[in-house]
Amino acid sequence: MLRDFISNATLLIASFSMMGVLFKDKPLRFSSPLSSKLLWGLFFGALGNILMLFSIQINSGSIADLRHLAIVIAASFGGYIPAIIASVIIAIGRFILFGFSNAAILPAIGALLIGLVCGAISPLRLSRTLKAFVMNLCALLILSIVFIIKIDDSQTLKTLLTIHYLISLTGGFIAYHFFVFVVDSNEAQYKLKDTEERFRLIAEYSSDMITMHNEKAEYIYISPAVKEIIHYEYPELLGKKMENFIHPEDVERTNEMFDKALHEGVAGSTYRYRSSLGDYVWIESTLKSVHFEEDGSKKVIIVSRNITERKLTEQKLQEANELLNRLSYMDGLTGISNRRYFDETLSNEWANSIKSNSPITLIMFDIDYFKKYNDTYGHPTGDFCLQTIAGAIKSKISDNSDNTLCRYGGEEFALILPSTKTKDGMKVAQHIQETIQSLRIPHTSSKIADTVTLSIGLATIVPNSSAIPQALIKMADSALYLSKTNGRNTITAYQ
Ligand code: GH3
Ligand code: MG
Ligand code: MG
Repeated sequence: MLRDFISNATLLIASFSMMGVLFKDKPLRFSSPLSSKLLWGLFFGALGNILMLFSIQINSGSIADLRHLAIVIAASFGGYIPAIIASVIIAIGRFILFGFSNAAILPAIGALLIGLVCGAISPLRLSRTLKAFVMNLCALLILSIVFIIKIDDSQTLKTLLTIHYLISLTGGFIAYHFFVFVVDSNEAQYKLKDTEERFRLIAEYSSDMITMHNEKAEYIYISPAVKEIIHYEYPELLGKKMENFIHPEDVERTNEMFDKALHEGVAGSTYRYRSSLGDYVWIESTLKSVHFEEDGSKKVIIVSRNITERKLTEQKLQEANELLNRLSYMDGLTGISNRRYFDETLSNEWANSIKSNSPITLIMFDIDYFKKYNDTYGHPTGDFCLQTIAGAIKSKISDNSDNTLCRYGGEEFALILPSTKTKDGMKVAQHIQETIQSLRIPHTSSKIADTVTLSIGLATIVPNSSAIPQALIKMADSALYLSKTNGRNTITAYQ
């Protein structure tokens, strides 16, 4: 008997496996199309008939089989349509296999009843497992009635019913759970296939370039957008290392980006990529590492887009900003730094001097009788004179040094000399005076010379936090005033 039971259970499992493989594209669900339900119904019916052929010998006069389980499974997974089809086929099979007889009518009706009852239970709002169990019990109840009607001997009936319940419940448990396993693995495969297809579709139609790389950063997948973005054909990149195409200045950064993605999971960067046309395009990439369980390997998926236009706009904007910044610190007439720059620089140098406890010297100089110069030569020539003086001092004295030359206002200039004592400041002031004298710019209306001259005032301080930069300006200005009152074309150091 045990052998019969094992062969029945094996038959069920083998059939479910076969059906799972054969109909993996036509899963049995309540929502399946009618054609799928018909097909499954037919196969469950056939299975019921096969199970009938391999019935279990309980004792010399009694046999049992698991045919009703085919109907139970059909109903619990596909609803009443496959259940009724299976039950009709089993009922017909009863006559075909064992011949038409009065004894065959009752089991055939029983099969039909099981189909109807299971079909009726199938839409109930119960869990699938519970439904299958209830269906199995109902089927057993119907079969019990058939046995009761057919078997007179109470002892035989008792034995048959006990063993039949045992076999059916155990067989039902095994059959149900094996079918769940078949359905779940089919669903998982279906979902995987579906996901793969979706991914491929997205990758193939995305305007972003999607690439996949192995741990050595070699290309193992490239989406078609590669042609539009970097103008390569698919095979040209396959198996090649990414860094072969990166701008030399960006290689280190992109390698770091790849390592980060590999070890930390995600990374992103912008870099220049050499297109097949030889030019560089700016690329923005997002990287993500993926762990492949099948072979334990790690891959990196990179989604990239061309941002050359955006980069160019950013570059232009940055250049415009820098220019604007430069212009905001520049005197429009002379091209040297303006008063705004002077104020900021003096306050920075002041702070540095406090920190380093070092002296700071400020030279202020003013063109003598410049109003008369304008009156004599005209305002445009006056402008040119200012430009000449500023240019000469810039190129000879303040260029390539820490000193800062500024137009302080009108025909007055200032030179900030950080870390400079009075003695060295005096040397610079003399150099300024000599430089202007050497230019020999005619000034016939000056009362002290026939060329343009300067009056210079100089002051030095070792600042402390209680003093303010304006103190130094005031000192240099009063020294300049002294130079003016002392006859002009002179240098005075603040005492
Ligand atoms: P002092 O020797 O006392 O410095 O006499 P000054 O005439 O140079 O000084 P004052 O302050 O009386 O006159 C300054 C003149 O500088 C008046 C103004 O027209 C001229 N000036 C100021 N800014 C400019 C400028 O941008 N271009 C020209 N051409 N002249 C300017
Ligand atoms: Mg003047
Ligand atoms: Mg002046």
